[in-house]
Amino acid sequence: MAKSRFEYVKQFERENYLLPDSWIVIRVDGRGFHRFSSHYDFRKPNDERALRVMNQAAGAVMRSIPDVMMAYGDSDEYSFVLRKNCTLFERRESKLVSTFASTFTAYYMQLWPAEFPDQPLEMAHLPTFDSRAVVYPSVRSLRDYFSWRQADCHINNLYNTTFWTLVQQGGRTTQQAEEELCKTVSSDKHEILFSKFGINYNNEPEMYKKGTTLVREYLDVDPETVATLSSRQLERLRKKNKVEVRELYVDIIGDAFWNERPWLLM
Ligand code: ATP
Ligand code: ATP
Ligand code: MG
Ligand code: MG
Repeated sequence: MAKSRFEYVKQFERENYLLPDSWIVIRVDGRGFHRFSSHYDFRKPNDERALRVMNQAAGAVMRSIPDVMMAYGDSDEYSFVLRKNCTLFERRESKLVSTFASTFTAYYMQLWPAEFPDQPLEMAHLPTFDSRAVVYPSVRSLRDYFSWRQADCHINNLYNTTFWTLVQQGGRTTQQAEEELCKTVSSDKHEILFSKFGINYNNEPEMYKKGTTLVREYLDVDPETVATLSSRQLERLRKKNKVEVRELYVDIIGDAFWNERPWLLM
């Protein structure tokens, strides 16, 4: 096609090519979900329907973008890790973050009605997500990233569970509950739940306490073998439906999860 005299403006574009040979983590987070969740009457502290929409949207993103090896999410956020040698969009940051945010949002909206049949999304209150990319060059920093997110989930969930129990069962106002909790540490919160309300925090649902982890699992192939396969061989397994995305509510801070799935860190 002939070039127009306007074409020079293309030179103003700047591109950030993310560091090669390292893990790209893309985190999407709901914009203004504090308000969004109160507008659609999410159950507090954890609305299971809303978490299912998030988990299913993330699963759909994983199925549509095969470079995603694993995802972890809680509340209104999800982190996706791309394999180390991923070349999607030539690792251009703006392409990656915008694609993840819009793909996630599209699935979220599509999956919403099944979980919230009586609350159609309204034009003035649509869900939107921002997205960022961070590159981790070592297994240590990548694992610490996921440990950071899971620890955050745990801290928030313990706080929210205690806070909403004080309000819903203890008759406190939200302000009173906040004051009561402001100087407490983790063990105090366990104690309040147990001694005042007979709730053993450890028996709360695993999905709430640990968040949700989605992993590509290879069927009929032992983990030792997966670790030695080339990208082309992995792709072939994918095409033969020997791969599925599994949803887990497990500890990802310790070594066990990673030792059982060496291919995640290849
Ligand atoms: P920002 O736009 O800066 O992300 P935000 O309002 O989305 O602001 P976050 O820190 O992302 O703030 O927190 C998300 C909030 O959404 C939570 O604090 C909680 O109130 C609400 N929320 C998200 N998911 C759920 C859920 N499944 N059940 C109940 N509340 C939820
Ligand atoms: P990329 O994912 O790299 O953006 P792309 O296929 O989206 O690739 P673009 O350069 O963005 O490529 O071009 C969009 C193409 O979509 C146009 O070339 C045209 O073929 C098609 N297209 C977009 N809107 C319309 C429309 N309203 N009617 C017909 N064709 C359209
Ligand atoms: Mg948010
Ligand atoms: Mg958030």
